[in-house]
Parts: sequence; C-alpha cells; structure tokens
Amino acid sequence: MVAAYQGVDGAYSQLALHDFLLRKRLEGTTLGASTYRAVAAAVASLRADFGIIPIETAIGGTVREGYDLVAEFKLTPVAEVLLRTDHRLLGVAGGTLADVREILAHPLTIAQCSRFLSGQSQARAIPCEDTGVAAREVARGGSPIIAALASPAAAQIYGLVELASNCRDHAHTHSRFLIVGAPKVETDEIAGANRFGARKTSIIFGLDDAPGKLVRCLSEFARRNINLTKVESKPRLGYGSGHVLYIDFEGDLNDPEVLKAVAHLKHETVTFNALGSYDAHIGPPIGSNDKAVLPPPQTATEWHPHAIALNTSSTLPRVSRVGRPHGSALTIGNVRIGDTGFTIIAGPCSVESREQIQETARAVQERGAVMLRGGAFKPRTSPYAFQGLGWEGVDLLSEAGRATGMPTISEVMTIDQVERMARQIDVLQIGARNMQNFDLLKAVGRTGHPVLLKRGLSATLDELLAAAEYILAEGNPNVMLCERGIRTFEPATRNTLDLSAVPVLRERSHLPVLVDPSHGVGVRRWIPPLCRAAKAVGAHGILVEVHPNPPEAKSDKDQALSFDDFAQIVAELDRIPVDGAALVPL
Ligand code: PEP
Ligand code: MN
Repeated sequence: MVAAYQGVDGAYSQLALHDFLLRKRLEGTTLGASTYRAVAAAVASLRADFGIIPIETAIGGTVREGYDLVAEFKLTPVAEVLLRTDHRLLGVAGGTLADVREILAHPLTIAQCSRFLSGQSQARAIPCEDTGVAAREVARGGSPIIAALASPAAAQIYGLVELASNCRDHAHTHSRFLIVGAPKVETDEIAGANRFGARKTSIIFGLDDAPGKLVRCLSEFARRNINLTKVESKPRLGYGSGHVLYIDFEGDLNDPEVLKAVAHLKHETVTFNALGSYDAHIGPPIGSNDKAVLPPPQTATEWHPHAIALNTSSTLPRVSRVGRPHGSALTIGNVRIGDTGFTIIAGPCSVESREQIQETARAVQERGAVMLRGGAFKPRTSPYAFQGLGWEGVDLLSEAGRATGMPTISEVMTIDQVERMARQIDVLQIGARNMQNFDLLKAVGRTGHPVLLKRGLSATLDELLAAAEYILAEGNPNVMLCERGIRTFEPATRNTLDLSAVPVLRERSHLPVLVDPSHGVGVRRWIPPLCRAAKAVGAHGILVEVHPNPPEAKSDKDQALSFDDFAQIVAELDRIPVDGAALVPL
C-alpha cells in the first residue's frame, strides 16, 4: 500500500499517518508530497491508496483547505486521527536560545506559539512548508542562529536538541486529520471492518443569510439526538452574502436518524456536500507521551512543480538555498561578502597603466571601496578595440592591490589563464560572455579560488545558477553571483539591469548576490540611482567602474565614474539600510 502525506520526515502529518498505519497493521510505502493538494491528487488518481489531510487545529479551527480538498476531489473519508502537537524549539547541539535569530515553523505552528514567539525579540519567525522541513533545514544548516518549532520526534529524526520546551500558548493543543481514500473506494480494506465502532460524519453546506435559517438547520440534529461535535461558519467565497457551514457530528450517513436530519437540512441549504462518514478517533490524541514510535523514513517524494526552491534543491543541490537557509558568506583577505553586509568593489574597466591603477586604487579606497577591480584580458565586441594589457595588466593590478591592502578582482577568459591568475589575483571574474563556457567554469572550480560569476547577456536566472553549480560541483564553494544587465528590446540603456534577479536569486540560492550597475545601464548619470536600488533590493554589494579621467578611458568611457561621482554614490549608499527582509525564507 502507498500512503501519501504532505511534508518530509518529521512532519506532523507523517507522525499521524504512521500511527494510523501501526494501529491498522498496514504495511507499505509512504509518499511525501509538497502540498495538501498534491496529496489529494495522488489519492484521487490512485497513485496512493490513501492519504492524510489536516482538517482542524485546536487554535486555528477549521483548516478550510483540508475540508475543501476532500470535497473537491470527492475523496472518501476513512478515519479521523487526533495528534497532540507539542511544539518544542529545536536547534543544533551546543547552541542556546539566545543565539537564535531565525525560527522556522509551519504557519499553523507559528499561530499556536504566538506568545512564546513574541517573547523572542532577538529572533523572527519564518514560515515554512511543514515542521519536518523546518527541523531538516536547521540540521542541514548546522548554525546555532537557526532553530525550528517542531515535535520531539523531529528532534530525534534530525539529531537536534531542545532549546525550549512548552512553546505552545495553551497546554493542550492538537490537530485533527482525515485519512482519505479514492472516490467511492471500499474503505474496509484500509480501515478494517469497524461498522460497530464510533462513527463521525462531516458535511459542508451553504446558507443564505436569513433570520432563523441556521437554527432550523441545527435543530434537525437536536430533535434527533444527534451530537454535533463541530460547527464552524466561514464566509461564502466568490459571490453575494451568505456563509458556508462546516459541520461534524456523531453518527453515520447510513443511520436512519441521520438520513432524516440530512434530508430536512437539504431544504434549507443553497449548496450541500456530504464528505462522508468515518471511524471516530477514540481516546486522547496520539503522541501524548514522548516515546512515540518514530516513523521509518519516507520512501518516495512527489513534489509539486510550484515548489521552486525545493525543485532547485534536487537539480542544483549545491547552489540551492535549501539546507543553507541563512545564506553563505565569503572571506576574501580582510573583506567579507554575504551575510548582512554591503560590499563596494570599484576600479577601472581596464588596467591602462601603473599610474592609472595606482591612482584609482588609492582614490576608491579613500572614498569607501574595499576591493579593487581592473580588467587585463578584455572581452571586446570589436577586435580593433583596446584588448587590455594582458599579464602586464595583471601584474599592475596585483601591485596596486598590495599597495593599498585591497583584495583584487579581474576577468579570466581562457582555461590557460586560470592558474596564473589565481596566483596573482584574489577573485577570478567570469564575464557575461563566458557564463556558459563550461570548461572554463570547471577550471575555476578546480582552483578553489573565489569566483565572481556574471550573468550572461541573455541567460535566465536558472541558467546562471546552473553555471554556478558547475563551479561548486568541482569542489569550489567560493562563488558570488553578479547581475550585470541583460539584453532586452530596450535601447535606451546599454542593457536592462534586472534588479528582480536579486530577490529571486537570494530565494533560490545561498550564494552572495552582487549587482554591477555600470554594465547594467552603461550611462554614467544613471549609475547612482541603480546603486541605491541594488542596496535597497537586498544585494550584498556592488561592482562599479571608476576612472581618473572618464572621457579618456580606453574602454567603457561612457559609464566610467569620476572619483567625485564615486564619493557621492558611497555617501548616498550610507543612507540606505541593508535590507534584512531580503533574507527570504524557504
Ligand atoms: C567587466 O566587468 O569588465 C566586464 C567585461 O563585464 P561583463 O562581463 O559583465 O560585460
Ligand atoms: Mn567594462
């Protein structure tokens, strides 16, 4: 048998499902799906024999999506499972509550622990798919600054420790789930024949707002001595006034009294949907003692295509943000790129002479740059344009870097340049035109040296990430991504600086993201506002071209900033806070 649930190992759905499997002595495999809808679809299409769907939490009440999916897919309810949800704050061994800055949790869990969370002013809550994912991310990240609200079972599965217990606002919270089978399925095979045990029924009906309507509906149950166990009203979606009632009661749709009550009810309602009858949960919620039997690891996964970040994790595991939700940072000399800092890299497009690079290095450093750029091997559109000074330029750049103490960055164009460049220069730049030069990517990957990877002129963000994966796959984790403008139909600017790349890349990948507004717009006066925008949108830094005498620059003179322009940009950037919100949760 195949049983589907939403989440990964350690999710509450999985714990509830496992308990059901044990009680019914059912053997088979479990299928972890990315969404409740994916669970319903898997059951309806018979890819799973049954599934588990949450329908209620003690604090939040009806999980409308759960009930509505059972109705929409015409699934057959089989049994109800009540699970005690005892949230603990889990972290890595050695960490303490005071270290924690981010708390990952399912939105329903966040709601159930609001008092605890509001007491943690040093940390913010980040919603995530399920408690299993939350615990798994903490274990993978291995950082004391990230913790998860999850069950004691999840702690055992992922080897985490409890930083705080009793995180719930109320001592007795539980969630209610329905085990569901395919439409019109014969449920005995799943639940075992239990027609004499306690049964429950769920129905959903729509009512117009009119005096006495609801009372007339409910009195049908009272008159027949049918115990209502849940009545919840939700606004009707889509049109007009009126409400939808979610009602559960004791009894089976085959009971004569239930049949009569339902028949009367139908006269009053504008919509009516009987989800079905199922075995009631008997006794206290499961999981009420901490020694619950841990479920075996999930045996298959079925992730919905819209779970983008999780998809990236399977195709591009090394660049994916999954597993490193806090992002990674690089240390290059005395400079740290990533985290919450903002790094300014400046220098000429091309190294032209000793005087030019030395003067520029001193000027940009005095004005706030921490890293020096300068091209020596230049990828020029025309073969007659200045091609760069080659190794002489590399020598001059490295000399200027040593003189000022700034780390240096320069482009490598061919595989045979890589080794020597890595000996002399601190960061190897892969230019836009070489983003998909896969052999070159592998070569810089083998050096283990920091790499700045620029987005190709017409590369998608996933292609940029795949190019980065080439470098990481060689064992080099020291990669920074750089948005530098893409080719669009718009001729007003040299390229179209795609600043939306920043939040997307930060969501999908843990790698630091820089922006190069110089090549992005190609026009000096538009560079300052885009530098500010880059910082505001959450970039980890910028890369700009600066020249002692812009009109005389041997390459890219239209976008070269004077020293004064650069000073002005740095002053303006100082007034823009680093965008902490750009740390997007998964
Ligand atoms: C450069 O930074 O000098 C450069 C050539 O950039 P890109 O590869 O983005 O055109
Ligand atoms: Mn340039």
